[in-house]
Amino acid sequence: MDWSLTPTQARFLAELRAFLDTAIDRPFSARPYGASEEAEWERARALHRALAARGRYAPAFPRELGGADLGPIETALVDAELAARRVPDVGRIPAVGYFGPTIQRWGTPAQIARHVGAIGRAEVVWCQGFSEPAAGSDLAALQARAVRDGDGWRINGRKVWTSDALHAGWCYLLARTDPQAPRHRGVSAFLVPMDAPGIEVRPLVNVADAPAFAEVTFDDVFAPADALLGEAGRGWYVATTTLDLERVSLSRWAAVLRDLEDAATWLRHRPIGRGRTTDRLALADAFISANVARVLAARVNDRHARGELVGSEASVAKLLSSELGQRVAHLLAGLGGLPALAHADGAPVPGTGEAVTSTVPWTIAGGTSEVQRNIIAQRGIGLPRS
Ligand SMILES: Cc1cc2nc3c(=O)[nH]c(=O)nc-3n(C[C@H](O)[C@H](O)[C@H](O)COP(=O)(O)OP(=O)(O)OC[C@H]3O[C@@H](n4cnc5c(N)ncnc54)[C@H](O)[C@@H]3O)c2cc1C
Repeated sequence: MDWSLTPTQARFLAELRAFLDTAIDRPFSARPYGASEEAEWERARALHRALAARGRYAPAFPRELGGADLGPIETALVDAELAARRVPDVGRIPAVGYFGPTIQRWGTPAQIARHVGAIGRAEVVWCQGFSEPAAGSDLAALQARAVRDGDGWRINGRKVWTSDALHAGWCYLLARTDPQAPRHRGVSAFLVPMDAPGIEVRPLVNVADAPAFAEVTFDDVFAPADALLGEAGRGWYVATTTLDLERVSLSRWAAVLRDLEDAATWLRHRPIGRGRTTDRLALADAFISANVARVLAARVNDRHARGELVGSEASVAKLLSSELGQRVAHLLAGLGGLPALAHADGAPVPGTGEAVTSTVPWTIAGGTSEVQRNIIAQRGIGLPRS
């Protein structure tokens, strides 16, 4: 099996790298998965807009929707290149990787032109209103309600852990429209502007002390008829598209590999020794796992590009890279010792201390490791449901 880039993809990558070399005039201070300060948020969004102007923000989108008519491989190349340069994601991967494609799959032509186009041109940040206080892993337990009101809907409910809600212009949410139906039916998907009257956003500070997500309440929010995505009562199918693509998008091998390469450079140049044998072996081990994660992600992207179902393999890729990210963060913190944990200069890689806390949610967001293992057990090796 040959996963090397085609000449066109290699040219795409070379051009992308050349552009980023000049567009990023100084390193981003925030880690890609950590606390993005406001100024860094704006800087990253400006870079996204510059990429969009070249069809490089969402390259798999059609040209008329801001893309470049390319495919998932090119999207993955952009993901990896931005992660390797520690550009804070600021909502790009969810929007490009799964919100936009979900709207493309289920939206009306008018919804696609309006929303997917705005995503492809990096004009708007979206947030995902799925999880609720009593509906996380068990998403079908969701309680938010939407009832008919004339041509439109009235939405009431409470969502939690809503990433990027503070910056979002729009929310893609799930609400129950038929409480009598079995719980996977009777759910509908809606696209709602965050400035609609009745929406309140309360920031939640994460373990890395950053307001990366929020609690969002919907108090009699009116959603017009064209807010409904897909058919009423069929929102579970819409959500499944999103969740499958989310797992495809969440392999973070590039950020991990970059940290490992920087740590190796740091050890090579450290005046006080080249590291203990156990650290050297642990680093070598992590390099092996990061490269396995890279190959797995390539395989998932390759199958996705061919239009094949990626199923449990996306869960394997997500699980491996998220658990590896935590392992590497602890390894580097151990290498750098107290100065690294205290965020001081001289840490093996920028933000070593912060990485220990910032990688904690990697195994929760997008479905916990236990949920991924359940998917692998059922869909991957055919075990019966527990
Ligand atoms: C950083 C971050 C960002 C997030 N962003 C968003 C967002 O933008 N939008 C959104 O809707 N949600 C978001 N979430 C929420 C995320 O999807 C949920 O946290 C996740 O699905 C887990 O749900 P929960 O927190 O309710 O935990 P629970 O589902 O209550 O799980 C608690 C524990 O029980 C385990 N468990 C649960 N069910 C099973 C089972 N069947 N088998 C084995 N173990 C099980 C879990 O693995 C976990 O360890 C985010 C979460 C984080 C951490």
